[in-house]
Amino acid sequence: MEDLGEASTREQCLTAVRCCPLCGESAERSQAAFSVRQLSWDVDVTTCCNCGLLYKSEFPTQELLASIYGPSYVHFKDSSSCCQSRQEPSDRTRRLGPPHGRHLDYGCGAGAAVWDAQSAGWESYGCDPFLPSIPSSHPLNGRLFRLDARDPGLAATLGFFDCITLWAVVEHLPHLRQTFEGLHHLLKPGASLVFSSPNGASLIARRAGRRWNMANLVEHIVFMTPRSVGWLAEHLGFEVKRVRYGGVPYPMGTCPPGVDGQGFCQTQDEPPPVPLANREPHSPARMSAAVRQLVGIAGAYFGKRNGGGHLGQLARGVLDRLRIGDHIEVCLLKCD
Ligand SMILES: [Zn+2]
Repeated sequence: MEDLGEASTREQCLTAVRCCPLCGESAERSQAAFSVRQLSWDVDVTTCCNCGLLYKSEFPTQELLASIYGPSYVHFKDSSSCCQSRQEPSDRTRRLGPPHGRHLDYGCGAGAAVWDAQSAGWESYGCDPFLPSIPSSHPLNGRLFRLDARDPGLAATLGFFDCITLWAVVEHLPHLRQTFEGLHHLLKPGASLVFSSPNGASLIARRAGRRWNMANLVEHIVFMTPRSVGWLAEHLGFEVKRVRYGGVPYPMGTCPPGVDGQGFCQTQDEPPPVPLANREPHSPARMSAAVRQLVGIAGAYFGKRNGGGHLGQLARGVLDRLRIGDHIEVCLLKCD
C-alpha cells in the first residue's frame, strides 16, 4: 500500500470536482446540501441543479483510491470462501427474474454476486477495475476480469450481456457518465442494467447528511437520486423499468456520535492509510445507547442476506411503499 502518512496534504488526498460527474453541468451551479468530514478536512456535498445528482465537491485522488482499494478492501476480502458451495440465490439475484443468458457483475469485488447469479442459472462473469490477483484455485478463475467499463476494448474481451448488475458500486464511481456509457455499450438491446445506490434525496440525506454513514465513507463520492436516474435514462438510451426504495429508515444509518469522518471500509485488522487527526469535536448524541443498540440489531436482522424471511420481506415492502430507506435499487432497460 502506498504510504499516505502523517504529512499528507489536502492536495495529495483530494481533488476538486469541476463539473457534475453525470451530466457535466458546472459545479459552480450546484447547490450545497451539507458537508462531511473527510480525513482531516470538511468537504461540501452538493446537488447538481441540472440532473439532481448529489456528489462531493472533492474526490479522492487516484493515489488515495488505489490505496483504499488495496487487497484488504472489504469487498475483496475472503475471495474464495463466498464461492464454496451452491446456495439459494439471494433476494437481489431473484429480483433479476428468471435467468436468461449472460450476466456481468461490474465492480464484482471478491465475486460473491457472480457466484450467486451462477448458482441461480445465469452464465455469469465479473469485472472490477481494482480486482486483486485471483489464484488459479479460485472457483471463479477465468470468470473475473480486472477491467474498467471505460476501456474501449471491453466488448471484445467480455462479449455482450443480457443483464449487468452493480451492487454497492455506483457510489464509488468518479467517472459516472462514462462508466454507464461503457456498460450501455455492453448490453444487448432490451437487456437490463440493475444497480443499487445510496439515495441522495432520501430522508436521512436531507435531515442528517453530515452523519449519514453512506456519505461519511471517503470512497463514497456520488449518490444517485430518483431525478438523476430519470436524467440518466433519458440521455443515455434507457427506459426506467423500476425504482425500488430500500435500505435502512432514518434515524438508522447515522454514524454513532464521534465517528463521523471515520472513513474507510477496510477489514478490521487494517489501519486506515491516512491520518484521522484534527477531527472536529464530536457531534451530540441524538439517541440513547440502548435505542441505538436496538436499531443496530434490527438493522442487522433485516439487512442480512435474505434477511428475516417473510417478516423481512414484509418490512422491505413497507420501506419501498413509504420510501423512507436510504437506498434505491434501479432497473433500466436498454432501448432498442
Ligand atoms: Zn448533473
